[in-house]
Amino acid sequence: MWPYVLAYGGGTMLLSLALVLVYVFTTGTESRVSPTDTAASAPALPPAASTTEQPTTTTTSDSPTSTPAGGASATGQANQPTKILALADHPILQDPNAGLANRACELPPWQSTPEGAEAFFTAARVCLDEAWGPFLQAYNLPFTPPRLHFPKAASFDTQCGTINVGIATAAYYCEGDLYLPFDGLQTDQYGDAPGVYLALFAHEYGHHVQELAGIMDAAWERIYAEGQDSPAGQEMSRRKELQAQCFSGMFLGAHVDRGGSVTRAMYDAAWYDQETRGDDTSGTRDHGSNANYAKWWRAGAYDNRIVDCNTFAAPSEDVA
Ligand SMILES: [Zn+2]
Repeated sequence: MWPYVLAYGGGTMLLSLALVLVYVFTTGTESRVSPTDTAASAPALPPAASTTEQPTTTTTSDSPTSTPAGGASATGQANQPTKILALADHPILQDPNAGLANRACELPPWQSTPEGAEAFFTAARVCLDEAWGPFLQAYNLPFTPPRLHFPKAASFDTQCGTINVGIATAAYYCEGDLYLPFDGLQTDQYGDAPGVYLALFAHEYGHHVQELAGIMDAAWERIYAEGQDSPAGQEMSRRKELQAQCFSGMFLGAHVDRGGSVTRAMYDAAWYDQETRGDDTSGTRDHGSNANYAKWWRAGAYDNRIVDCNTFAAPSEDVA
């Protein structure tokens, strides 16, 4: 028997819905309802791009010197792929040379319509599957693609409850379901900015990677233990969110300038956009400051090494 708290952090628009639902399963099974995750929105008017850090032009396209050697056997004798509930010491976060394979990702031209966005993200999911699937499988971790949903309204129902698009919620992930409400993209503000949208999607997909690996469950166990609104619980939430940022950066770093659709201009736009998202913008304490939101994305993008995404081993000040 295991009590589960199902909740999400909300900004001002969501406070009235900041429900905490406790599910107590009395059957003794391990059936669980997953916690949820969001990607922070950009502010209504993004500041001009800062020049505090320059996008790298030389190192992001380096191939990882190794992709995971992996523990899965081709003999059929391998153990069933199983998630591993671990954080800083999770096996996928240890190899200093491991990163995503560098490859081309083919995407349709961006169109700021619901149909255009759906086509874009549906193609992007294939690229993300091809990037993260083999990576996880090399560690004998399970892999299934996330199920994509494209809500047409700013409020939509999920298995984790009703979600309202707002300053703290641009997109949404819950237990294998990835939601990309068109309103959350803020296309009226960003317009033709496929790199920004791709980074947002890759952040949500990063939560799917955490879910498959077992990091998500391990993080939420800690959050429940500390209390979701406690300083320690919120810090654990930030470590989880900032790692998703780093995974997003890895994806763009692995695919920019590879001959596909991910151009340097897209990468640069994503690089600068990250500093407009985060707790300073949303008024929350569970995603990380805008500065750290950008810093961890860039850590992943810079040289595509997953060891640089170990937010769970970082000092507290780096995940503030
Ligand atoms: Zn998130």
